[in-house]
Amino acid sequence: MKPTNIKDPEYFHKVVDCQYACPAHTPVPEYIRLIAAERYGEAYMVNWESNVFPGVLGRTCDRPCEPACRRGRVDEEPVAICRLKRVAADNKGDVSAAMPVAPDIKKQGRVALIGAGPASLTVARDLAPLGYEIDLFDDQPLAGGFMRSQIPVFRLPPEVLDEEVGFVLDLGIKQHFRHYVDSLGAVLEKDYDAIFVGTGAQVAQSRVLLPMPAYAVPHFMHFLENLV
Ligand code: SF4
Repeated sequence: MKPTNIKDPEYFHKVVDCQYACPAHTPVPEYIRLIAAERYGEAYMVNWESNVFPGVLGRTCDRPCEPACRRGRVDEEPVAICRLKRVAADNKGDVSAAMPVAPDIKKQGRVALIGAGPASLTVARDLAPLGYEIDLFDDQPLAGGFMRSQIPVFRLPPEVLDEEVGFVLDLGIKQHFRHYVDSLGAVLEKDYDAIFVGTGAQVAQSRVLLPMPAYAVPHFMHFLENLV
């Protein structure tokens, strides 16, 4: 039998079931310990580093961490990991001092991000503090992508989304909203060092899952858009 490779972070991730089950590998025990100590701002920042939108996810995540929670095997119910994320987000107070600051002089290169949804915003969040100059393009008037257009406001209040999108945009991101990119060739001609296409899964499916006639819900994405 081979010795355990404790230099491999995957080994430790697997030991913490909830963290391993989370697609972002959020360090769940760490932030729950901080919440228990009423250190909500720090709990929020632990989340923010992993998953960028803790206030959004605390309301909307599909929470695959919870079926993996070991308490579910002992108490029948898992720890309410997702709702605790919301608790940290709602009680964090002013975390602006803990946010990274983008350097004034950008030395690393220029990057174009097409689409201003969670994928592009995450790239912007990670690259801007390293000194990359970011151009963010979207045909909508505001950033947020499907988080803004597909999640009803009773589930995700706009002020929660605005605050978390704002944390990213405040990193000196150049915003080009109401700007539909209709030619990738034209973007390539602008000599960016990298281009990230984060336009999401835009093609609607017409499968009908609700107890209503098919003609009533032609496409679920349009249905959600109209609901918002
Ligand atoms: S609620 Fe979602 S983002 Fe948070 S730890 Fe669970 S799976 Fe990860």
